[in-house]
Amino acid sequence: STGDMKILLLENVNQTAIEIFNKQGYQVEFLKGSLPEEELIEKIKDVHAIGIRSKTKLTAKVLEHAKNLVCIGCFCIGTNQVDLNFAAKKGIAVFNSPFSNSRSVAELVIAEIISLARQLGDRSIELHTGTWNKVSNKCWEVRGKTLGIIGYGHIGSQLSVLAEAMGLHVIYYDIVTIMALGTAKQVSTLDELLNNSDFVSLHVPETPETKNLLSAPQFAAMKDGAYMINASRGTVVDIPSLIAAMKAKKIAGAAIDVYPAEPRKNGVGAFADDLNKWTSDLISLPNLILTPHIGGSTEEAQSAIGIEVSTALSNYINEGNSVGSVNFPEVSLKALNYDQENTVRVLYIHQNIPGVLRTVNNILSNHNIDKQFSDSHGDVAYLMADISSVDQSDIKEIYEKLNQTDAKISIRLLY
Ligand code: NAD
Repeated sequence: STGDMKILLLENVNQTAIEIFNKQGYQVEFLKGSLPEEELIEKIKDVHAIGIRSKTKLTAKVLEHAKNLVCIGCFCIGTNQVDLNFAAKKGIAVFNSPFSNSRSVAELVIAEIISLARQLGDRSIELHTGTWNKVSNKCWEVRGKTLGIIGYGHIGSQLSVLAEAMGLHVIYYDIVTIMALGTAKQVSTLDELLNNSDFVSLHVPETPETKNLLSAPQFAAMKDGAYMINASRGTVVDIPSLIAAMKAKKIAGAAIDVYPAEPRKNGVGAFADDLNKWTSDLISLPNLILTPHIGGSTEEAQSAIGIEVSTALSNYINEGNSVGSVNFPEVSLKALNYDQENTVRVLYIHQNIPGVLRTVNNILSNHNIDKQFSDSHGDVAYLMADISSVDQSDIKEIYEKLNQTDAKISIRLLY
């Protein structure tokens, strides 16, 4: 029952998550910080779900002790603090929040488009150091200019809408054909986008194909005096090529939020350590806005993350619905009606080997299987079945028989 579910929340995850878990009737333990490994191992032994951010390392060693753990929620974007493979093999589904901060990133880019066009960063730095420099030379309105968006996904498409509202023309390039919003137009090659854009903004994922997507030849293909904005991933732009293009005045300004290597913590000097190859060049360039990976860093994004991840965990706990999991087969059926008597939902996580479904269906075949869905992800497979015409003793028997199957990783019966 939901009242028996124990959830451990670490690293001060957003309050919105606690509200959603409380509403479900779960027992919630909330801690502001992360835990040292020994304490984490102690605590993880009897919880059913855990919510973390980036500092808690859920290694195989820690997860080994998680006897009752059903799912993990990463209340952030990244998931490399969790041993995803090991978790999957133990039947533990991991969820994160990839899209809660799309709007925040799109708004930052809008701010940067105007800031670059008006050289706001430089004017502010100058006046901070006592220089009054009132100029209009090479300062522009953005109305009527063309914004080229590379990658028209969650962020790119959101940016498209906001940019058109300010009177920019929008063109975009993507590897898949995507329906245009507003009056934006998809172009068929990257070069076509670069040749025609006054502002170029990158919104692609980090993949082998996007590594150095913008390098010397691409900067050469851009319009003279164009601007570049990168708030995607640090690997996507070749920084030395950007520096060369800016020194040559080919590129009139740029904003960078992400870097090939980023410091792990806030503080003076951290930047220089990780980026010393380029720092002196970068900081001396005019009209270059440098920000410390803050594209998605807003209060709204934090609360959206809390809602998104806690909802995914609740759906998985209450319904078995694993849609959105990063390490697990994505399986779902229509919401279970807990009031309906003599029905049970079987959640059977198993090794992805031949013959398992026959064995399982043999066990379930005395009953009426209303709906069934299964899928696999690597070595792990997941079957969900809604069965009717069962009573309490059937439920016990089904559990025991499934529990004896060789391929079993874990079983939950919801009723
Ligand atoms: P998304 O998956 O919704 O969209 C990415 C788009 O890029 C997709 O439409 C995809 O088809 C396209 N694409 C993939 N490879 C491509 C290629 N080689 N050429 C052209 N298009 C390609 O992702 P999103 O949520 O919009 O995020 C975009 C980027 O922004 C990601 O790299 C993400 O990590 C980054 N991001 C940064 C911050 C920040 O704080 N600066 C915050 C959130 C996300």
